[in-house]
Amino acid sequence: MGAIDPTERAGVLHRLADAIDDNAEELALLDVRDNGSPIREMRNDARVASAQLRYYAGLILQLHGQTTTTSRGRLNYSIRQPWGVVGRIIPFNHPFMFAASKIAAPLAAGNCVIVKPSEFTSLSALRLGELAADILPPGVLNIVTGFGAEAGDALVAHPKVRRLAFIGSAQTGRAILRRGAEINVKSITLELGGKNPLVVFPDADVDTAVEAALRGMNFTWQGQSCGSTSRLIAHAEIYDELVTAVGKRLDEMRSGSPEDEATDTGAIVSEPQLEKVLSYIAIGHEEGARLVAGGTRVTDGDLGKGRFVRPTLFADVDPRSRLAQEEIFGPVLAAMPFRTYDQALEIANNVQYGLTASVFTRDLAIAHRFAEDIEAGYVWVNDVSRHTPGTAFGGFKDSGLGREENVEELESYTQSKNVHVNFGR
Ligand code: NAD
Repeated sequence: MGAIDPTERAGVLHRLADAIDDNAEELALLDVRDNGSPIREMRNDARVASAQLRYYAGLILQLHGQTTTTSRGRLNYSIRQPWGVVGRIIPFNHPFMFAASKIAAPLAAGNCVIVKPSEFTSLSALRLGELAADILPPGVLNIVTGFGAEAGDALVAHPKVRRLAFIGSAQTGRAILRRGAEINVKSITLELGGKNPLVVFPDADVDTAVEAALRGMNFTWQGQSCGSTSRLIAHAEIYDELVTAVGKRLDEMRSGSPEDEATDTGAIVSEPQLEKVLSYIAIGHEEGARLVAGGTRVTDGDLGKGRFVRPTLFADVDPRSRLAQEEIFGPVLAAMPFRTYDQALEIANNVQYGLTASVFTRDLAIAHRFAEDIEAGYVWVNDVSRHTPGTAFGGFKDSGLGREENVEELESYTQSKNVHVNFGR
């Protein structure tokens, strides 16, 4: 891609975005059948993917070097050059969105890309490869399917892949860092898991907070999102009201076929993921948390043949318990009360992760103080889940390294080279 003139490169990315828009319904359906998330959401994923391609196409001419003041007769400038081959390893939860949107920045920066989709959800990435074959030059985009320990490892261990970006669990991310370092020096960025807090102060509007708790947990796609606000931390004054209202709304959510437009919550992606979710529900009971809603697998009718788990809420969860500490990546929300600001912050920060956080309050001082104090890469005040296009997304602590969805991501797919010229005065 680096050999293509930047404006022509932008045109290529726009043509790929057009092809995605033209085939969005088919791409969304492939994901629905592969990962069990509802059609409405998977359509949106296709839209996000083409929008990201257009965003990075528009940024190509913003890849600037610098000139630096130096002595007379000398010139110092820097240029940005692509790495060459970039490896992108992606997870199962938004298969097409990640496959298509995460090639945008590396291609815009002039690299070739090898995408390794999840072994559970490879179909839409393969279709992307077919669509791109008529648009991108040969060899520029490669889709390599397979298991993590084989295809993923081969990509990490290849000495010519110097730049890797990984989206997945913290455990795999750490293994990839280790493995890459055994081979040579690589630039590896990581978008990892989360156990994100949604903190509600007593002055917040409870109805708004209820909506946010439901939306933030992404129950529609079974809570399978890194950014899901899976810990609801509410002030004792409004805690009971909030927990009861969220529980009631969860009971009303309709589990259904992911192909049905009216479905509120779809199916879990795979058998191992289903077992993981059910095991955490058992852990919640063992740890003495109070089950408010859900907590069961759907066993009757057609849905009983699938992997449907009712949206689940546990209340009175001990902040030090496994239910409060570990990422489940399923439809299980853990609620816990607090009494003081310091207590809320202590609970919110006391986990290994630091991806997103959300705070609900009408008090500007508390909102800004919380945004400053919280250990998270993306903070919402009186909102949840929204990614503002062009802003940096990424994690603190074990939630990751590096930032995506902005100019920084584009630049991360280049290496800076400094040139010092003596023109002889
Ligand atoms: P995972 O870590 O099991 O797998 C992710 C990808 O890594 C898959 O393609 C897998 O095949 C591959 N892989 C596994 N072992 C590997 C190895 N040894 N070497 C190379 N590749 C390997 O994650 P998952 O279960 O697919 O996805 C869920 C996780 O992803 C959750 O932790 C979630 O929070 C995280 N996630 C993070 C973000 C983010 O932007 N921060 C977004 C979505 C998902």
